[in-house]
Parts: sequence; C-alpha cells; structure tokens
Amino acid sequence: KAKDERGSFFRLYDAEIASEEAERRRVKSDLIQVVQSRGLEVYGQPILNLATRQVDHFEALVRWQNGSTQFIPPSNFIPLAEEIGLISEVGDFVLHEVLEHLSCWPDTLKACINVSVLQLGDGRFAENVLNSLSRQNVSPLRLEVEVTESILMEHGSGAHADLQRLRTAGITLALDDFGIGFSSLGYLQEMRFDKLKIDRKFVSEVDTSSGSAAIVRSISDLAKSLQMTCTAEGVENAGHLYCIEQCGCDYAQGFHIGEPVPLSQIEPGFVFAGGLEHVPIEVQGREP
Ligand code: C2E
Ligand code: MG
Ligand code: MG
Ligand code: MG
Repeated sequence: KAKDERGSFFRLYDAEIASEEAERRRVKSDLIQVVQSRGLEVYGQPILNLATRQVDHFEALVRWQNGSTQFIPPSNFIPLAEEIGLISEVGDFVLHEVLEHLSCWPDTLKACINVSVLQLGDGRFAENVLNSLSRQNVSPLRLEVEVTESILMEHGSGAHADLQRLRTAGITLALDDFGIGFSSLGYLQEMRFDKLKIDRKFVSEVDTSSGSAAIVRSISDLAKSLQMTCTAEGVENAGHLYCIEQCGCDYAQGFHIGEPVPLSQIEPGFVFAGGLEHVPIEVQGREP
C-alpha cells in the first residue's frame, strides 16, 4: 500500500510540473501574440513637482490585460519578454504610444519610459529613440529614460554609450529603484544621471522609521550634491508626502498623488487633487 501511495505521489508531482510547463508555454505564446498584434496598453502615472506644486511629468507603465479578466503585472511579463527576445518590441510599442500622446500635450509636460538593459548596447535603441522623436516632432527635452541599477553592472557593454548619447541629445536619465540594488556610489560618478528615484521600500516607512527617513534624506542630499534631482516612489498617503518633502525630495510619485491611468485619459493640466497643506507628522518609531 505504501508503495502505491508513493507511486501516485510522484505521478501527481510530474503532472503538476507538466501543467506548470504547459501554462508557461501558453503565457509565452499569448505574449508573442499580444505584442505582435500591438494589444498591450500604456498607462501613465502622474509625478508631482514639489517646488511648483504641479504635475509636470508622467511615468509610462505598460499593461497586459489577457482576455477580459486576467491582468498580468509587468513584473511578471517583462522578464518573460526579455527571456524570449521580445523586450525591444515591447519598448518600441511603449515609446510609440508615449510620443503620440506627448505630441498632443502642452510642451511643458514630460514623460518617462522604463528601459530594460537588454534594449541597450548595440546603438539601435538610441538611434531609434532619436529618430522617433524627430519624426513625431517632439523635443528630446520632454523625454526621460529610467533604468535600474542592474544596468550599472553591465560594465564595458555599450549600454553606457547608448545612454550618454541620449543624454547629449537632451533626454534626461533617471536611476530607478535607487537604494535596493547593487551599484556602488562610484558608478554615479562614472555614469551621469539627472535624477535618482528612491525605492518605495524606504518611502513606505519614511513616516514610521527614523532609519528609513535618514536614508531618504541622505539620498536626497546625495542627489543635490551631485547636481541631480530626486523622486520619492510609492507615496501612498499624506504622511509620506509630508515626510519626503521634509527630507528634501524634489518630486513625489505614488497612489496618493495619482494611480496609473490609460494615457488617453490624461488631461493636460492635470492638477494634484489632494490637499497640499500638510498636517505636520512627527517621524516616530525610533529604532532600538
Ligand atoms: P517602476 O519603474 O519602479 O514603476 C513603479 C511601479 O510602482 C509601478 O508598478 C507602479 O504602478 C507602482 N506604484 C506606483 N505608485 C505606487 C504606490 O504608491 N504604492 C505601490 N505599492 N506601488 C506603486 P507596475 O506598473 O506594476 O510596474 C512594475 C515594474 O515593471 C516597473 O517598476 C518597471 O520596472 C517595470 N515596467 C513597467 N512598464 C515597463 C516598460 O514599459 N518597460 C520596461 N522595460 N519595464 C517596465
Ligand atoms: Mg520606473
Ligand atoms: Mg521604481
Ligand atoms: Mg507607511
């Protein structure tokens, strides 16, 4: 009897692996199909300039609604797109959508796009971005490119050259999710960025942990001393907003400012609806 149970256990296990494999294959072929049919969507999340009190840029975030109900987050399908060699197609699609909308918005509104390291390195990305901008008659000053710290690890690759070429043309560069990756501060000297985006891990605790508040303040100071600006990501409530401003951040992004919405729903002149007269909140919860 024991042998029987064992046998069926393994059969079950094999079946599970096989069905996971089948599921993965299905998702892959769905992804290929949706990318080829240009069925992805691009959303934009507002970013608030704390000095002017105005939303002056949006971050483009790609969305995949598989069928009518299943939403697949980019943190799942972007790595898959990278793995199967489709990331440049995804990136081209996002860029195209963003430029189309930028050309209808007032000149004062900018957009940021996220770029995967796999899109960089062979010079084609920079070429394509600059050509697309001039074709759509959009100034490079209205585009920002966000990369994550992992790009800095790609040493000696053409990624740096590609990014610097964009920067020379007037596109600003932001280092995304700053503080949780592997980069050393030395890279910030080697590779010029215009902005640091403080990872939401620190922002989510900026109002309750003096350690997180100290990190947010230090990153903001670092940005200033290297002639960069900084954005706090994941600002979810008035307490976060108050604290990141006290810490010297230049921009706020998060559900408290506004959730990502389809680019077509973005009204030029979007104003942050939340109260900007902050209720002072003490940074409490001293760490032991
Ligand atoms: P990211 O570039 O750091 O984008 C910010 C993420 O935080 C977005 O998740 C956004 O929806 C989410 N977020 C914004 N405000 C808040 C908040 O207040 N609280 C919380 N908990 N989350 C907030 P999303 O859209 O799921 O994207 C995840 C990641 O996928 C992005 O992180 C980016 O690395 C990547 N991604 C998104 N779109 C693209 C794209 O077009 N190309 C590439 N290569 N990567 C993309
Ligand atoms: Mg980003
Ligand atoms: Mg981020
Ligand atoms: Mg919190």
